Amino acid sequence: MQANIARVCKPARRAPADVTLIAVSKTHDAPAIQPLIDAGQRVFGENRVQEAQAKWPALREAHPDIELHLIGQLQSNKAEEAVALFDVIHSLDRPSLLTALARAMDKVGRRVPCFVQVNIGDEAQKGGCPISELPAFLAAVRAADVPLAGLMCIPPADTEAAPFFALLAKLAADHGLTGLSMGMSGDYETAVMLGATHVRVGSALFGQRGAARA
Ligand SMILES: *Cc1c(COP(=O)(O)O)cnc(C)c1O
Repeated sequence: MQANIARVCKPARRAPADVTLIAVSKTHDAPAIQPLIDAGQRVFGENRVQEAQAKWPALREAHPDIELHLIGQLQSNKAEEAVALFDVIHSLDRPSLLTALARAMDKVGRRVPCFVQVNIGDEAQKGGCPISELPAFLAAVRAADVPLAGLMCIPPADTEAAPFFALLAKLAADHGLTGLSMGMSGDYETAVMLGATHVRVGSALFGQRGAARA
């Protein structure tokens, strides 16, 4: 995986060290995760607060240098737990969640960098800030003193992802942001070519998740 990323970085004139591989371990238990930790992987992603709370504290006790990223949608009432557990949050997408996270960060005494998730394909059923509301929302994030890591997207399924990655990169550049969380198992190489700084890869590392929980 790291070798693939490095291979794609070369023609894109990017340094492999500028791309963080987030190993998405959702639905996988500690025995499945341990081999990756043993192989040196230190950055992991989960999409549910409760699931992460159940398995990561023990794993982290043995490896305090592990970095944990929340990549899934977050309910405002779980903001405090998320801020206490995660090192980076990729799903900040609405004013109510911004308020909850800012309050949680004050309370917990920890400022967690957040990517603003953009609804890049303008899909009604998907999370993410609408593109039209992005300038105002980014201004609100900056005003709230919540560390802004960059932009994140999940392109529409079953279509070529590249135009959506390119659009996210342009939006980030327009707003002076360098962090780009984009690319999953099927398209992380394309994402790296188009500037991803964080790729979120699950099944290509762990194998397919159980169909019922995927
Ligand atoms: C599950 C998930 C991933 C990883 O998906 P794979 O296709 O298994 O690599 C990436 N990002 C988000 C937001 C996810 O929920």
